[in-house]
Parts: sequence; C-alpha cells; structure tokens
Amino acid sequence: MNRRLGLFGGTFDPPHLGHLAALRAVWATHLVDHILVTVAGDPYLKSGTTTVASAEVRLAMAHAAFDGLPGVEVSDLEVRREGPTYTIDTVEALSAEGTTISLIVGADVVGQLPRWREAARLAELVDVVVLPRDGSPTTLPPGWRGSVIDMDPVDVSSTEVRRRLENGENPADLVPASVVPWLTEGDG
Ligand code: ATP
Repeated sequence: MNRRLGLFGGTFDPPHLGHLAALRAVWATHLVDHILVTVAGDPYLKSGTTTVASAEVRLAMAHAAFDGLPGVEVSDLEVRREGPTYTIDTVEALSAEGTTISLIVGADVVGQLPRWREAARLAELVDVVVLPRDGSPTTLPPGWRGSVIDMDPVDVSSTEVRRRLENGENPADLVPASVVPWLTEGDG
C-alpha cells in the first residue's frame, strides 16, 4: 500500500501555536498518513539573521510541543546529520518504494523553494502542502506540485515569541503550555 508521509521541517526556536494549528489542519485533511516533524540541526538559511537555540534544546521543545498530536512524530534525523540541514538530504533518506512525500511549508517559505539545494530534484520528489500565513501569497512556484490547506492563518511566529522574551514580555499565550518552562527557565 502507498504510504503518504508529510514532512514538516523547521527551526522551531521555539515551537508555537501556529505550528500546532498547522499540524492539526494538515492531519484533518487526510492528505497524509503520518507527519514527521524534522528539527533542523543547522538551519543555515537563518544563520546571521538571529541567534538560534541549540539543536538539542529545539528538539526537546518540539517533543514537548508536538508529542501526542494525532499522526505526528518528532524526528531527530536532521539533528543527527552533520553540516547544514538541506531538505533534499532528508527527502532522499526517507524516500522508499511506495512512499510519497508531501513537504509541508508555510506561505512565507513557499516562494523560496526554487532557491533550496537541488530544487529541481526536490520538486520532482515531493508535492507541497502550503499553510496560509498572513501577508504571504500561497502560490506555488512554476514546476512545483501541491495544494493549499484550508485554514485560517494563525498570526504567531517564533520571531514574535523571541521578541517578547527579549523585552521581558510574557509569550505564554503564543506557545503550548508544555513549552513555557523551556522559555522561562532559560535553557530548560
Ligand atoms: P521565525 O519567526 O524564527 O522565522 P517561524 O515562526 O517561521 O520562525 P519555523 O520553525 O521557521 O517558525 O517554521 C517551520 C515551518 O512552519 C515553516 O514552513 C513555516 O513557514 C511554518 N510556520 C511557522 N509559523 C507558522 C504559522 N503561524 N502558520 C503557518 N505556518 C507556519
């Protein structure tokens, strides 16, 4: 039987309610049988723009946030891999006879897909499931297959959570309760 795997990669610095809503919305579509949340070991696209928490802490926060959600499994595949995290490597590692892979991405990311490593090959290997996000078009770039999830955009980002923490404001309404201790107790 064909296995339909959804791949939801991210930095998760930290995981927040937008990620949770996205996972629930994707699961509700029945487009996939299983969702793998992959925590980027070295999110090279974010280097230089912000200080990223260690992969181990982000992985632990992802477990705290997502474990127990229906259909969802948190993976350390990209944390264990050396070097910059490229989605193509993850997709190739997970590709198998009888498995189709759907790449789940927010609308802020979909326009960048053509600039990802081995983009043409990636576009052949996956279809894309786009999550609406305020202010970003959901249009797929030419050559990419996929669909857009029908969900109300959730206006939460990790950037906003970090901004609040830096300003001494409480981010508790933006993250799952299970993540709050990681944010308030420093390194968890
Ligand atoms: P940052 O603010 O640091 O850029 P982020 O909130 O976008 O982080 P990531 O961990 O980079 O979080 O996101 C992982 C994936 O989840 C990406 O595909 C991103 O587009 C998607 N995503 C994040 N937040 C939302 C949201 N509120 N709604 C829909 N998709 C989201």
